[in-house]
Amino acid sequence: MKMVHNFRNDITVDWCPGCGDFGILTALTSALSELNLGSHDVAIISGIGCSGKTPHYVNAAGAHTLHGRAIPVAVGVKLTNPHLKVIVTGGDGDLMSIGAGHLVAEGRRNSGITVLMYDNAVYGLTKGQAAPTLKLGVQTKSLARPNIYDAINPIMLAISSGYSFVARGFSFEIAHLKNIIKQAIMFPGSSFIDILQPCPTYNNINTMDWYKKRVYKLDDDKSWDPVITENDPKAEEKYNKAIEKSFEWGDKIPIGVFYVNKKVPPFTERLKQYVDNYEQIPPAVQDVSTEDGK
Ligand code: SF4
Repeated sequence: MKMVHNFRNDITVDWCPGCGDFGILTALTSALSELNLGSHDVAIISGIGCSGKTPHYVNAAGAHTLHGRAIPVAVGVKLTNPHLKVIVTGGDGDLMSIGAGHLVAEGRRNSGITVLMYDNAVYGLTKGQAAPTLKLGVQTKSLARPNIYDAINPIMLAISSGYSFVARGFSFEIAHLKNIIKQAIMFPGSSFIDILQPCPTYNNINTMDWYKKRVYKLDDDKSWDPVITENDPKAEEKYNKAIEKSFEWGDKIPIGVFYVNKKVPPFTERLKQYVDNYEQIPPAVQDVSTEDGK
C-alpha cells in the first residue's frame, strides 16, 4: 500500500503572523497528499515575492526563480517531463505586472501547468507598494496617496488568455481552496487560480474580515455550470457568463470555479500530434532565395 506523502517539510515559515499565505500552503500541501502524489511527482516553481518562498516549505522538487519568470521555467519543466504536476506560485505583483506577458502566453500555449496567484493587491516583500489588483483610488496604510492605477481583472485576463480551468479561492476557506487546487492539478490543460490572500502587514483594506463578509461560493448556486464540453451548444453563453461573473466585486465576491474548457487539447497533446504527423505537414517556410543568392 502506498504511504500518503507529507508535503510539509520542517523548514520554519517566516511569513508575518496572520498572513493568508499560511492557508494557501496548508491547502496546497493537503491537496497534494490527498491526490496520493509523491515528492517526485511534483515541482513547485516560484517567482519573487512573499509567495516565492512557497517551494522552500514544500517537500517536493522546486525552484525559486526570477521576478516574473516562474511561468517560462515551469513550462520548461513540464515539457521536459509531462508526467510531473508543475505548480507555479506567484503574487499579483509578480504574475500580473513584470510576468504578465508570460502569463498571457501560457494561456495560449496551455501546456498543463497550474498557476496559483497569491492576490493581496500589494508588493508585500518590498514594503507594500500598490500591486496590479489594487483598485483605483484605494489607499492602504502603506501608500502615501490613493492608488493612481486602475486594477487588472485576473479572472477575465486568464479566461481570455486561454487558460482552460479558471477559478478563485480564498486563503481562509482552506477546505474549499484545497478542493479547487485538486481539480486544477488534475486538469490536463493549464489552470489558473486567483487566491484572495489578505496581507495584514501592508493592506489594511482587504483584510480577512473584509473578505469574510463578502465572499460567497459559486458552487452553492446549482444552476451555475462553468464546464464546456466538445460540441457544447452553450459554449459561447458559458464563456460570456464567466467573463460577466468575473466583474462581480464589492458587496459580493464570488469564489469557486468560473470556467472549465474541455474542448482545447493541452500543448503536449498538440505537440505529440505534430511530431507524429511531422512528415505529412508541409514546411511552413518556403525557399525564396534567388539564383544569385539574394
Ligand atoms: Fe504575508 Fe504581507 Fe507579510 Fe508578505 S508582507 S508575509 S504577504 S503579511
